[in-house]
Amino acid sequence: MPEENTLFHKILTGEIPSDKVYEDEHIYAFLDINPVNIGHTLVIPKKFSRTLLEADEETIAHLFNGVTKIARGVKEATKADGINIMNNSEASAGQEIFYTHIHIVPRFDGDGFTHWKGARKYNSGEEQEVVKKIKKEL
Ligand code: 5GP
Repeated sequence: MPEENTLFHKILTGEIPSDKVYEDEHIYAFLDINPVNIGHTLVIPKKFSRTLLEADEETIAHLFNGVTKIARGVKEATKADGINIMNNSEASAGQEIFYTHIHIVPRFDGDGFTHWKGARKYNSGEEQEVVKKIKKEL
């Protein structure tokens, strides 16, 4: 899908309204319309990429500098006990909007939100095998 047709491009240009919490030369941050908790914020780079893995280094640096700054603000403002900073890349990982974005989710003791429900254990030898494969790619 071309950038112009993506929902978050339309939010960035103002074609679709959003609750802006922060903007600078490189990033734009606004409230998620379906928050896990009040204050759940999305941060997007102004330079388009489909997924975070396709973004260039400079864009990622600006994005994550902004994300940590905004996450501190969200935590203070909502008096959250903790914060999840998350990204879904590709549909199998839960990505629904194909314009890079980072979720900042305020968390409260006992709020009941769970993730990594399906975590598993390694079978014998699997760790070494996957470490070898990952190292080869880096
Ligand atoms: P993803 O699943 O792609 O990581 O996250 C997409 C997020 O965008 C979801 O959490 C969803 O609630 C949010 N979202 C979807 N449509 C809109 C919208 O029109 N406005 C805003 N502010 N957020 C949206």
